Amino acid sequence: MSTAETEPRPAAQPQEPLESQDRPYVEVLSPRDVPLGGPRAMTVRRTLPHRSRRLIGAWCFVDHYGPDDVALTGGMDVAPHPHTGLQTVSWLFTGEIEHRDSLGVHAFVRPGELNLMTSGHGICHSEVSTPATTVLHGVQLWVVLPDEHRATARDFHHHVPEPVALDGGEARVFLGTLAGRTSPVPTFTPLLGAELTLTPHATVTLTVDPAFEHGVLVDHGEIRLADTDLHPGDLGYLAPGPTTLTLTNTADAPARLILLGGTPFEEQIVMWWNFIGRSQEDITRARADWQAATDRFGEVHGYPGDRLPAPELPGTPLKPRGRTR
Ligand code: MN
Repeated sequence: MSTAETEPRPAAQPQEPLESQDRPYVEVLSPRDVPLGGPRAMTVRRTLPHRSRRLIGAWCFVDHYGPDDVALTGGMDVAPHPHTGLQTVSWLFTGEIEHRDSLGVHAFVRPGELNLMTSGHGICHSEVSTPATTVLHGVQLWVVLPDEHRATARDFHHHVPEPVALDGGEARVFLGTLAGRTSPVPTFTPLLGAELTLTPHATVTLTVDPAFEHGVLVDHGEIRLADTDLHPGDLGYLAPGPTTLTLTNTADAPARLILLGGTPFEEQIVMWWNFIGRSQEDITRARADWQAATDRFGEVHGYPGDRLPAPELPGTPLKPRGRTR
């Protein structure tokens, strides 16, 4: 996915959640609607980066979309565009997306299947919902690469996690470890990514790594996390510390959520358009390399149309920012 937002909204005052002894504080990050661009402008709900929080672990970008009737929204049609310094995680609930990238990967993203693309120093890709898709529903997530690995080679992983039965639901662990399952897909920082479904009125308690901060993105249903009610589209943030995480589906219908986690990412980063760097110079160079069609990003074959041009850089300097500012 490509972001039409060239600069995330400025951060508010840094907020570190206050924790009481018995009740961890949950910060609720509400989504904002962002058009993806294109003729009919499919809209996504974005919760990261957020005014008050830019990262959860190394998760730096959370777009949630659908269920969309593609006859109305036009579906997804994102022309070839570049990435640098990050990984993209595509995860669908419904529909199908055709992915092509400059590594030469031609893949179909399907529900319950992880497609993880590592940009490293540079990659480009296109993403198009297939003609067979009538309803499109899923998430696109980005992971920032740590400085020592951000220039790594392009890579791509596909993995179909086996569902794990929980008492009151089911989990699909696509990255990291949860409920006794570990994804075989390697990560550059400690990370967790899983889809959970909860039966009506179920309460599920999961053992988690106390060094991790967590995010709970509600897809549908009503979820209570540590005494805080989360509604569809909300991303609930929980600071490191707890060794368990308790989720309750408070409604009469099934619920679904995405659980993200990771150790706090302490590096300062610059995120602009589809690039992540450490400085204004990194971004300026990446933009110039894309505009000049250098080998850095390679070429996508098979997409019927032109590549996306980079937007103009802002007139004001791009400043490195940390987790909460
Ligand atoms: Mn993309």
